[in-house]
Amino acid sequence: MHELETLIRAVPDFPQPGVVFRDVTPLLADAGAFARCIDALAEPWLGQGVHAVCGIESRGFIFGAALAQKLNAGFVPLRKPGKLPPPVVGMDYALEYGHDRLEVRAGALQPGERALLVDDVLATGGTLAAAQALLGRLDVALVGAAVVIELPALRGRSRWQGEAPLHALLRY
Ligand code: 5GP
Repeated sequence: MHELETLIRAVPDFPQPGVVFRDVTPLLADAGAFARCIDALAEPWLGQGVHAVCGIESRGFIFGAALAQKLNAGFVPLRKPGKLPPPVVGMDYALEYGHDRLEVRAGALQPGERALLVDDVLATGGTLAAAQALLGRLDVALVGAAVVIELPALRGRSRWQGEAPLHALLRY
């Protein structure tokens, strides 16, 4: 994992003062490191019968689509509002300042379907919690969640509900 850590760039004061943004694009640009990252992300979920990988816009699409291929699963994008054509099912959630919304195509996931959530970064946990609530509304069987980076100081994990595992590759 040390090799992957060196390929994640810490950018101070982005997108606003006081925030250290973790930029995953150097990792994505390195063919070997990206492949090893996907292998490591997939490892806990091999043989778990994951049928759909749900990636959160936008970097969750990149990791999620590659992970779906690795797990022989389909890929379902969870998108910001207004991006998917109707009909959609949505979930509003609060941000530190304001609110946002995640949407999924109605019918993309069936009740009881075994789904895995994927994102690049777990920060305050609001996004992942909203994604979990959205899948809950659809009665999906949530297998768990995979993130590349967890920022434990922001306590995002505390917002994850239930017993399904939440795995993070790297922590800063
Ligand atoms: P949260 O809702 O947990 O506060 O924020 C997580 C969401 O914001 C994720 O979708 C993630 O892509 C984005 N995000 C928050 N902080 C960072 C960061 O430092 N680096 C990157 N790449 N994404 C971040």
